[in-house]
Amino acid sequence: MVLFRKISKIFKASANRSEPSSASHIIPRPQHNISRENISENALKVLYRLHKAGYQACLVGGAVRDLALGLEPKDFDVATDASPEDVKSLFRNCRLIGRRFRLAHVFYGRDIIEVATFRGSGDMDVSADQLSHSDEGRILRDNVYGSIEEDARRRDFTVNAMYYDIRDFSVLDYMDGMKDIEQGILRIIGEPEQRYREDPVRMLRVVRFAVKLGFKIHLETETPIFDLAGLLDDISPSRLFDESVKLFMSGQALQTFELLRHYGLFAYLYPMTEEALSIEDHDFPIILVSQAMKNTDERLQSGKSVTPAFIYASILWEPVRLLAERINEEEDLPAFPAMQKAIAKTLQKQSQHTAIPKRFSIFMREVWQLQGRFEFTTGMRPYKLLSHPRFRAAYDFLLLRAGCGEVSQELADWWTHFQDATSSEKKKMTRPGKRPGKKKK
Ligand code: ATP
Ligand code: MG
Repeated sequence: MVLFRKISKIFKASANRSEPSSASHIIPRPQHNISRENISENALKVLYRLHKAGYQACLVGGAVRDLALGLEPKDFDVATDASPEDVKSLFRNCRLIGRRFRLAHVFYGRDIIEVATFRGSGDMDVSADQLSHSDEGRILRDNVYGSIEEDARRRDFTVNAMYYDIRDFSVLDYMDGMKDIEQGILRIIGEPEQRYREDPVRMLRVVRFAVKLGFKIHLETETPIFDLAGLLDDISPSRLFDESVKLFMSGQALQTFELLRHYGLFAYLYPMTEEALSIEDHDFPIILVSQAMKNTDERLQSGKSVTPAFIYASILWEPVRLLAERINEEEDLPAFPAMQKAIAKTLQKQSQHTAIPKRFSIFMREVWQLQGRFEFTTGMRPYKLLSHPRFRAAYDFLLLRAGCGEVSQELADWWTHFQDATSSEKKKMTRPGKRPGKKKK
């Protein structure tokens, strides 16, 4: 009886909604596990204030997905029928960002709650001048406001298109995301090929979520990826870099890397690496990249600091190393300038695909350039290297190289020992004539 009353209340509430929501899309509070206790105080403040002012206000996207799965959301995004200007007038601590499609950022100290007005879908009743496509069908402008249901339809995956409505704590689930959450399935909304053409980055996102959530990619969502991976060439190198950080800094880099290669996506992010990895006469490059990712994952899991630059240094090491070898032979340049030239060329070429910002490439360059200096273990040179500000990272990189057999383990052990040796031991170790194992060919 009580349940019936609750349900009839919900039916009444939904009859008053402006959007055409049928009751089957509403999951009432008792039928889901999303609790306000797990929503950030600031997000709740924003939701309540919008609601009190008469607007529809919902938590949306990754936060609803993660809460439904019992995970802790990274951030809380809000969607509303209030216009950005309406939002701005409600919050003192608010800034509007974006030119094409304006978003409101509500600030609480360092915490930002992003508030977006429901957006219309590109392929619905939008006139041609409101929407233009690239040759590949990608949406270039999608700056039309819409209903909540349209807003749901233009999101990427069903599990990312659920709305937690602050009005009655129900979940509005127009795309049947909750069913996919329960079954652990990632399913793109709409016609898969068209959605990937609109925005090829969705192919990277599906891989990221599959690994992060441990979900299976639905067959129809998965199949087109093999053929469409090349569309990533159309994406700006800086956007690919942003995505690539999310892919590799999530604590599951190794699994992500393997899945990206499986779908042929990695080749468009790091083409030189893919080429180098597919040379079959040795397998140490792939071991090196995999080990660097494993180390990063472990460090992240135990709360240690990591820099994306280390992973990028390992991803691009094999192309750099091969090119340096070639320049050394073909141009008759000594090892060090050959390495410098190879680094410059590789970074330049890479910047046309996944651009690596200067603050990281400076680190990578140093770590790579120092590798050659590890071979000199006599006289004053080891002391100089030890006091180099980048020694630690370069040494960690040397260990990776030794771990996969690219340089001798003896050399790595020598450096491990040298760091902790007393000064008289150091003196002995650096005497001329003493050389740890030479580089393998
Ligand atoms: P994360 O936990 O990694 O932040 P998220 O789902 O919140 O995951 P965001 O990149 O923060 O991912 O995006 C927020 C929401 O915006 C998504 O849940 C999805 O609904 C929508 N979205 C983001 N990127 C796209 C895209 N390329 N195409 C369609 N919808 C997208
Ligand atoms: Mg998010």
